[in-house]
Amino acid sequence: MQLRFRFFLLMTALFVGFVLIVWFFSLRWQNEINYTWGQQFAQRQVAFDKYRTLSPLIREIGLAKQMAADPDIVAMASHEDDPAAKARGIAAMENYRFNFRDHTYFSAMARSGNYYFNDASNQYQGRQLRYVLSENNSNDKWFYATIKSGKLAQINVDPDVHLGVTKVWINVLIKSGDQTLGVIGTGIDLTSFLKETVSFQQSGVHNLFVDESRAIQLNNNPDLIDYMSIGKDVSQRIKVDRLFTSASDVENLRVAMEELERNPDQSRTLWVDYAGRKELLGVAYLPEIGWFDLTLMDAHGLIPIQEAWRIPALFVAALLIALLSMGYALSRWVIRPIAALQNATERMQRGEFDVEHPVQGTGEIERLSWSFAQMAKYVGDTNRELENKVRERTDELNRMAETDLLTGLLNRRGMTDRLEKEIARQVRQDGMLGLLMLDLDRFKSINDSYGHAAGDAALREAAAVIQSLKREYDHAARWGGEEFLILLPVCDKTNLLTVAERIRDAIRNLNIRAAGQSFSLTVSIGAYHAATPQPLETLLQKVDQALYAAKGEERDCVRLFS
Ligand code: GH3
Ligand code: MG
Ligand code: MG
Repeated sequence: MQLRFRFFLLMTALFVGFVLIVWFFSLRWQNEINYTWGQQFAQRQVAFDKYRTLSPLIREIGLAKQMAADPDIVAMASHEDDPAAKARGIAAMENYRFNFRDHTYFSAMARSGNYYFNDASNQYQGRQLRYVLSENNSNDKWFYATIKSGKLAQINVDPDVHLGVTKVWINVLIKSGDQTLGVIGTGIDLTSFLKETVSFQQSGVHNLFVDESRAIQLNNNPDLIDYMSIGKDVSQRIKVDRLFTSASDVENLRVAMEELERNPDQSRTLWVDYAGRKELLGVAYLPEIGWFDLTLMDAHGLIPIQEAWRIPALFVAALLIALLSMGYALSRWVIRPIAALQNATERMQRGEFDVEHPVQGTGEIERLSWSFAQMAKYVGDTNRELENKVRERTDELNRMAETDLLTGLLNRRGMTDRLEKEIARQVRQDGMLGLLMLDLDRFKSINDSYGHAAGDAALREAAAVIQSLKREYDHAARWGGEEFLILLPVCDKTNLLTVAERIRDAIRNLNIRAAGQSFSLTVSIGAYHAATPQPLETLLQKVDQALYAAKGEERDCVRLFS
């Protein structure tokens, strides 16, 4: 597999692995951070809601308690049939009316069941006694339940059917010693109160209030308010339980509420399934009114850590850049130099040894490349040297193959080659050529008289004479035992005969010393002048005939073929 591809696979694997790890851990950390952050947020939110809801109620409850303890009102409750006491009591209640938030008050007397009411419009001026409560009327159950509960102050969300208003009623018992004389208090308009508390717009946050039985007291959706809980059996109430899909969430809430009743200053945070998703539920207890504030938070909509994808994305982008840079560096520093080296080796295989320095620089691969270039140069030089030597040796061998060992003249083979070339040239250039064939006279007797070595010496000296007297571009060969052949290209007849005569004369003047003796010798020469090109055999035949003629006469002479 190619290095490039292998690195690509490795980098891809690294990248995918890293992305998976970052993805896994960032999800985990994000959840952890979400959870911790959410809890803190929930606790603060709950504390804030508690204060926001309680502060108007606490003021109203305080005022209602003050009103319940007013001597004129207690006196009226004790002696309702005394018109003067009743008038003083009503006057006192009218005074309190202006102090209540909605300028509304009510009072209900235990003994008579008389219900008094007036509101901001003062429409019941002089006729504050509105109706008489009845134990048989289900709408009046709140009154009897409140008296029965014995709690000094409590809150009841209730539509008053007689008056046609729905209010958050603050009910305080009028007491004289242990005796309960009635219930007095104020009503806050539910719609405006909901607007201030549960309808408070904050994206992702939604809160509601429940009583100790988890019956919904205040909720954004008025249809999910359990009105007049106090007058109903617990099983009949609209409970917050219905908002949660999981029974374990309800159980956890129940446990949290129990704990908060013991530690009212704390708050609790739970994860619940709400409206098909996980939400944080903050729970706080409002001991003054016996309610619990439940704050539901869509943690995913709230928590800015959602943006945390930017950090892993940054990591991934940084890794991608790092890997791409690595890939580029690898390609530039390793793969491309290796390819250049490989290219150089291929050129070397084709016989190009001047590969120069394939990779420039000072690193490891560059040094390898430098060594490689050195090696290539060395191999190239050695190769050239070897080739030169082989050529020289071949030339030498060729020369030796054409040379006669004894005389150093051409041998028969060398001469045949020159003859063929000169004949070919004569054909091309239309020139003339001459041939001389020499045969030493009575050589057998020289061998016989002075010995074979002396004969050899005589052959060498005769050859030396021929070599020195032939023209520079003539060719001379030892044609046979004591026979020589001279080829004279571009030569006229006179020239030919002049050269022949000169040689004949020089040989007969030789004084040969060998084996302590001296002797002389003569030569017979046949000559042939070819004015037109002729085949080699014809030339040799004719010059041989001329030599024969020379031998046939007195020897030691030159004869021209005619
Ligand atoms: P002629 O040519 O005048 O008729 O007489 P010749 O004695 O030269 O005749 P022939 O051609 O019969 O003899 C040639 C002799 O040359 C025979 C041989 O012993 C001698 N010879 C041939 N080659 C060599 C050689 O290489 N060295 C020596 N020493 N003698 C040689
Ligand atoms: Mg002979
Ligand atoms: Mg001879």
